Amino acid sequence: MSAQAVRQLPARGGPRFINIDVYVHVVKGNDNNGAVRNRALRKQVDVLNDSFAGRTAPNAHSTPFRFRLRGIDRTTNPAWYRHVVGSKSEKNMKRALHVGDARTLNLYTAKPRPGIILGYATFPWDVDNKPLQDGVVVTRESLPGGSADPYAKGDTATHEVGHWLGLYHTFQGGCGVKNDYVTDTAKEQTPAGGCPQGRDTCPAAGNDPIHNFMDYTYDRCMYKFTKGQANRARLAFQAFRN
Ligand SMILES: [Zn+2]
Repeated sequence: MSAQAVRQLPARGGPRFINIDVYVHVVKGNDNNGAVRNRALRKQVDVLNDSFAGRTAPNAHSTPFRFRLRGIDRTTNPAWYRHVVGSKSEKNMKRALHVGDARTLNLYTAKPRPGIILGYATFPWDVDNKPLQDGVVVTRESLPGGSADPYAKGDTATHEVGHWLGLYHTFQGGCGVKNDYVTDTAKEQTPAGGCPQGRDTCPAAGNDPIHNFMDYTYDRCMYKFTKGQANRARLAFQAFRN
């Protein structure tokens, strides 16, 4: 058989665990606004590990990802602290503080604008083009024990790291055929807020996945990834972050 006739399936499985080094960049404004204790950051990484290991609910699926807090740095810069998403300040902040490579999670705490932004992230398929802009930004109030209740259990970082690993919102494509490109998350027309038990916005089977980390519900309401999401994130990591 000639080489070009071989149509090989991608290797299944891969390593059981993918260890991610985490570097946290605490960005502060004047008067120590935005200060974050190391303890809160360690708890945040614990939340990531519990969430991605499926320890948050009996029906939560474990993903391959495990996180290790490798470093914390602190910078006082009011423009960076209150940066507008997509602005020059964001670019400058990340260019100055980013460490590691495509496998490294750069996690910034700040208070991004406009309005109240809990967090945002870059996707894995963009890291090649913009390696220094890669990473996750969360408002420091969303960290475990922060003041953004009902969004202060650290699930903003879990949600944003989900994006960083290639996951879309569960409502990404609405009720469309592809939706979030994951087959085992029920389709959802629009973001769910709060914790609306029994919400069902699409004719396709299944209630809305309000307990999924990739919806917009309260932290206490979101507690799971699915097997399909774990597979998608693993494949995205192998394709773009290896
Ligand atoms: Zn999101």
